[in-house]
Formats: sequence, C-alpha cells, structure tokens
Amino acid sequence: MSGTDATAISLSSGGLLAFKVAPDYETKNSYSVTVTVTAASQSVSKAITIAITNVNEFACKQPSYTSKPTAVNSDSNHRYYEYFWQSSPEICVNLYHTSLLDDSWETRTVQILEWAKTNLGLLVPINAFVMDQKNGSTSELTQINNDVCTIWDPLEGRNQTNCVNNQDAWGNRSAAAGVGHKGLPNGGDLFWPQNAWTGHDDIGVPIRILMHEFYHVYQNSMKFYFEATSRFGIPVRWEDQESTYLHHDNFVTVFPNWIEEGGADFAGFAMATKYDNSVDARGQLIEHLDEARNVITTAANNGDTVSLKDYEYQGALYESSSNPNNGIGRQKDFQYSGGSMALAYLWSLDNANFKKIVVDYYKIYAEQDNLDPGNGWKNAFESLFGMTLAKFYTDFDAFMRQSRSSQIAILKTNAEMQSASWTD
Ligand SMILES: [Zn+2]
Repeated sequence: MSGTDATAISLSSGGLLAFKVAPDYETKNSYSVTVTVTAASQSVSKAITIAITNVNEFACKQPSYTSKPTAVNSDSNHRYYEYFWQSSPEICVNLYHTSLLDDSWETRTVQILEWAKTNLGLLVPINAFVMDQKNGSTSELTQINNDVCTIWDPLEGRNQTNCVNNQDAWGNRSAAAGVGHKGLPNGGDLFWPQNAWTGHDDIGVPIRILMHEFYHVYQNSMKFYFEATSRFGIPVRWEDQESTYLHHDNFVTVFPNWIEEGGADFAGFAMATKYDNSVDARGQLIEHLDEARNVITTAANNGDTVSLKDYEYQGALYESSSNPNNGIGRQKDFQYSGGSMALAYLWSLDNANFKKIVVDYYKIYAEQDNLDPGNGWKNAFESLFGMTLAKFYTDFDAFMRQSRSSQIAILKTNAEMQSASWTD
C-alpha cells in the first residue's frame, strides 16, 4: 500500500482496509491510497479514494450524570439534591444536518433561548434538539433518539436499545419541552423541529412558540427548587410511587393543565414581544381569545357549559365523546386559549399580578407542596392572588361570556407587555 494517506490506513493479511484511527470529517474528509498486488514479476495497482461523510455530533458538552446522585438531605415529603452545574446551567443547542435547516433559524433559535435565559432566568441546563424531521434520513433521526437516550437513559437505568425503540415516531412530532424528576440531573429537553417554525406567515408566532417551550423548562424546573437552601427537592412520592402519583388523569399531579399550557402561552406572548418589539403579541392573544370564545359558543350550542375548572386535569375527558355534559366532544385546546386568557384576565385585575403569574407562582410552588403534598399548585395560587380558585373560576367563566369588545378591552397593549417586569 502506498500513496498520500497510506500511513493512516492498515491492510490486513485478509485484504481488508481499515482506518487506524476513526476519521473526523471536520479535520479531513478525503483519503487516497494505492494498493498494489505483486506476484512474481507482475504487479497490478489500484488507486482508491475514500470519502468521509459527516455525522452530527453534540454541539456542546452535556451535563453527564450517568446515575442519579445521592440526596444530600431529606424530610418526610422531599429528598434534596445538589448538582454540579447549578452555578451556571448552560443551553446546548444541537443542530442536526444543518444544510436542511434554515440558516436564519439556526441563529435565531440560539439567540431566543439565550435571551430567555438571560432575561427570565434558568435553573437547569437545557439540551435542545433541532432537526428537519420531514427530510432527515432515518439513520440521522435514529441518531437523535440515541443522543437523547444517552443523556437521560442511564439515569433511569433503562436499556439503551429499548429507550431508542420507545421514542415517538418521527415525521409529525410537535415542538415540546420540559424537565422531569428522573432526568433532572442532566437538565431539561427541548425539541424544536423545523416544521414548528415553517408555515407561519407571521414570524412572531414561532418566536412565541419557542418562548413557550423554553418556559416549560423554566416552570418545570422551578417546581423542584427550594430557594432558601439552593437545593432541588424531588417529592418522595414521585420517586418511590411514581405510578400512583404522576401521569394521572383523575387529579392534578403537578400543575393544572390550564396553568401549565396557558401559562407557557401567556409568558410566551410577553417574552416574544419583549425579545422583538415588532412581534404583535396582543394580536396573537386576540386570536387565542377568538379560539376560546369559539369553544364556548360551539359547546353552548350543544347544551354544554365550559368552565376553566374542566381544564385542571379533565380537558381530555371533556374533549372526548365521554363529555359528561352532553356526550359531544369539545373543540380542542381550551387549556391553551382559555388558559392564557384566564391569566390575561388575572393580570387585568392587578398590575402586580404579571410577575406573580410569570415567576412567583413557580417560585413558591416547591415550598407550598412540601407543606401540603399534592396541593402546592392550589395553595400557591390562592396565597399569591388572595382568592380561592373556586372564586377565580366563577369570575373568569363569567368574563368569558361577556362581549368580545369588553374582553378585548382588558388586554394589555404590546408596549405594556414589553414594559411589564417579572423581576423584583
Ligand atoms: Zn406547551
């Protein structure tokens, strides 16, 4: 064997060529060797060029817990943890197959997430995955599943192959984000597929959706955090009896659906127009109002009365043919449209409620849930806003039956959203 790269490649006695060290596309992407066979006085040569194709690698170093750390303290309701990244949790944006992705959104995605971290705050690392699931190859998309499982699977003690096989099918995944108690040591996750930002005439919509996803990590990390001790507390009941206390549709397990999704939209509107003052957040909120009004009107035409309370944990029930009011499933997604309107209405009652809605509710959740396990979501609301949830539901349901013009009248302007403060 001879030629330019002969020293990088080995030739076995069986005739197999192999790299001595795995090649790196970013360093060198083409290798040339010439192999020559000689017998007696005859020889034949063949020039071979080996092209290296690129694979996507993690854009930045992930937090790398391979097992759950030991609790540093505990009480009867929580176990408390400290993580090495606590002083500076980072956002790692993994862009897969960048030639398929819009260049402007490659940049904007990082800018938006970093803006949100700087301006709102961030308690945990975020592992973001950005891909074109419509055009990416099967092997690339499988690689993403592998990368996801590499970060969180060891913490759950699961088999990597099972983890990969249990991921949702590719093609129609939505933007999604969060952080759960099992994955917490390695931070939150954020999926941002290209189809989530294409197909909108108004760029303000995907900006708001990405803020919404960031906010899911924000709110779901805050639920673990005990500010007084700078520790993350995980409810003992979630760790030890997960199937009894989490993932249920017959009681509120963490946050009411309308607060989790409506809260992410509400914060998303404000964050989007703060990030880019040309974003018409008020216009998007009015679209949500119209969607919510439509759910209520359609239901009313069928003898069904919509209450925000239905969206604590029973939204799916009311949206199914098992709707206890009339057996006719409601239009979907009132938890987003009605939920964000509920918070816009709550803000209209008192300017100070903006910060309480965006930040304080989550800031006091962990302590409230420690004092009264399973009711932190309710007690945090009632102590912050000085009214019972029952009263709020009655008042908001009545508000949603007012005229459209009087509803629009309580909505803040874009300028008011831009200047509203969530800091002390
Ligand atoms: Zn959401």
